[in-house]
Amino acid sequence: MLFPARFDVIVVGGGHAGTEAALASARAGAKTLLLTHNIETLGQMSCNPSIGGIGKGHLVKEVDALGGAMAAATDEAGIQFRILNASKGPAVRATRAQADRMLYKQAIRHRLENHPNLTLFQQAADDLMLHGDRVAGVVTQLGIRFEAAAVVLTAGTFLNGMVHVGLENYRAGRFGDPASISLAQRLREMRLPVGRLKTGTPPRLDGRTIDYSRTQIQPGDDPAPVFSFLGRREQHPRQVPCWITQTNARTHDIIRGGLDRSPMFTGVIEGIGPRYCPSIEDKIHRFAGKDSHQIFLEPEGLTTHEIYPQGVSTSLPFDVQLALVRSIAGLENVHILRPGYAIEYDYFDPRNLKASLETKSIAGLFFAGQINGTTGYEEAAAQGLLVGVNAARQVQGKEAWSPRRDQAYLGVLVDDLVTRGVSEPYRMFTSRAEYRLSLREDNADWRLTEIGRELGIVNDARWDAFNRKRDAVARETERLHSTWVNPKLVPEADAVRVLGKPLEREYRLLDLLRRPDVSYQSLLTLPGSGAGETDPQVAEQTEIQAKYRGYIERQRDEIERAHNNETLALPTDLDYAEVRGLSIEVRQRLNQYRPETLGQASRVQGVTPAAISLLLVHLKRRE
Ligand code: FAD
Repeated sequence: MLFPARFDVIVVGGGHAGTEAALASARAGAKTLLLTHNIETLGQMSCNPSIGGIGKGHLVKEVDALGGAMAAATDEAGIQFRILNASKGPAVRATRAQADRMLYKQAIRHRLENHPNLTLFQQAADDLMLHGDRVAGVVTQLGIRFEAAAVVLTAGTFLNGMVHVGLENYRAGRFGDPASISLAQRLREMRLPVGRLKTGTPPRLDGRTIDYSRTQIQPGDDPAPVFSFLGRREQHPRQVPCWITQTNARTHDIIRGGLDRSPMFTGVIEGIGPRYCPSIEDKIHRFAGKDSHQIFLEPEGLTTHEIYPQGVSTSLPFDVQLALVRSIAGLENVHILRPGYAIEYDYFDPRNLKASLETKSIAGLFFAGQINGTTGYEEAAAQGLLVGVNAARQVQGKEAWSPRRDQAYLGVLVDDLVTRGVSEPYRMFTSRAEYRLSLREDNADWRLTEIGRELGIVNDARWDAFNRKRDAVARETERLHSTWVNPKLVPEADAVRVLGKPLEREYRLLDLLRRPDVSYQSLLTLPGSGAGETDPQVAEQTEIQAKYRGYIERQRDEIERAHNNETLALPTDLDYAEVRGLSIEVRQRLNQYRPETLGQASRVQGVTPAAISLLLVHLKRRE
């Protein structure tokens, strides 16, 4: 049966990639359908109930700056907020929030249900409709045919998903949800380059059976920060602490004793797992000299006793899971509510994607999220937003958008995926960005909100708030530049308190703020400094821009120099076999992955700066 309405864009999957994709596509003006297995699981956190962290928080702020939902939903659902690396430089500072998973799902669902241009439908997508090399729609499990010019697949861990607990295994998309078998089969038939990855999750604990007196309390920051640039502290629900405990020698012995029944160590699991988020058995094996690992006990919500023990992700058999958690201080009598497990799933080599995240082989078919070999809600959400915009733009006959590496972590993420591919689940770190100083959490709006407005995905409220902030920072910077403090009017004790030494001459306030040890708030306590800004975002931005101006300008020069080569488009008919001097391996790699720009070519594995010079010479010759 053909569904009566035709859509511009169909998004398959209502996880973190799919929900941002559907919202972005609808915001960009495309008539959008979100097709997902189960409306109850929209926005479900499959693993840890937390959002953000180093590198990941940066992505969440970028999604927010572009009008996405993740940060705002976290402000409504977050039960503990912290700024990580608070004492370090602003480039590596990151927001992290523990979320009530029910409130988070509610916040996401509310946004989806009430969005213009967006229709929800609960059904599994089993097949794609194709017209030659172009996607034409989706066929569901009941045989309903939905037509659209662009289709976005965000199937997460569901494609050929296989859950493992010890040597037991069965097909599932995650615990309690069916795997996507028909769709996975169909994608394999289309000869898209497929691989297997794995990820895991810890057993969940009943908080009433934990002896917290044997653990260490970890409160959130007070006052709690907000995630969204439009967020307000009053939106946060009640705040709660987490607790810390650790594994010990006995825990490690129990784990070692169970390895002969571990699907990872007996070769039952073939997929590669995330190196940076390893299972506890992997940690014991890899760091054999370490006699203890920290475990964070994180509440899953305000209306449940369920606790997420971060750090004991495992696929060991249930009896070993029970013994190992009960060997940990505070967990001696703990009841496991849900066993931990690992899941293996299909992903598709992202080098088969353009920078718009459209597949190179099937026009109009886009991929986002875990299906591209990434791990994490934030990585998924960021890709989802990009793909939603690009699917809508393609249908509208507009050019695709993808930020550069110097503009956004989203640019770094997409570029890494499409040029380097993945050999293990990819997660974001600040160390992946070469222009860290420019890509801070605090300036994500500065970098992206104007672009989002041009793309049509930033609404009036966000745009107005951003302009007010930008004007206020400019005004305050100008005020600090034109306000002088005079040693005759500043008592020596005040100068020493704020500046660490007496004022030897007259200074502009802005120049004093540039000193590394002088904070904006302390500066304002100097007599004659006037009333400063009370809005914390304006104050923070004024201070960071003043302090880091020199470094940031130097980085901007560097970016400009690199930019010319970076964006040089490579002809689509370029035959790399004809480029003189290139090694056979480099020729083959470039012919295989067909980078779109010289910048992308430079990041293809094995491509050296010398190879890039040869390529440049060849391009000049062709002109
Ligand atoms: P998902 O959130 O998985 O959403 C996929 C959606 O697509 C679901 O709603 C599903 O129902 C729907 N769907 C799938 N197929 C179809 C179909 N054919 N038709 C209709 N709907 C369909 N991340 C970390 O950062 N750290 C971790 O430690 C970690 N551990 C994890 C452990 C486990 C067991 C699992 C399952 C995930 C873990 N993750 C972890 C990953 C994290 O959950 C994902 O990265 C993130 O949810 C990916 O988002 P997504 O939108 O790509 O996919």
